[in-house]
Amino acid sequence: MTEVSLFTRIINREIPAEILYEDEQCIVINDIAPQAPVHMLVIPREPIARLADARQSDTSLLGHLMWVAGGMARQTGIDEAFRLVVNNGEGAGQTVFHLHLHVLGDKNFTEQEL
Ligand code: AMP
Repeated sequence: MTEVSLFTRIINREIPAEILYEDEQCIVINDIAPQAPVHMLVIPREPIARLADARQSDTSLLGHLMWVAGGMARQTGIDEAFRLVVNNGEGAGQTVFHLHLHVLGDKNFTEQEL
């Protein structure tokens, strides 16, 4: 049996988190170690391990995650300048193998780093 992910445990309220939004498809929480003044994670309830593992049948869910990210950016007042990041695989810095979108904002993005 595959291990239950950290984010599934947060969704199931087994681990506490600052939950900002949730609907039938996803949940949005504050990142516990923020890399920017606003750093939210948009997480699907379905535990897709990596973006590269998403199937064609997940395309509507993937679109929904992006739509929610935009809405949360508006709600937190960062919609004029924010960045979406998806780390795919250990080599790209993925540490939690349950797909999530990082929404980063309220910081100076002029530096080159992602
Ligand atoms: P990634 O490195 O792309 O897999 O991102 C995982 C993110 O989850 C990191 O930015 C972590 O800071 C964040 N994270 C880990 N544990 C928690 C937690 N308990 N609550 C909220 N965010 C977390």
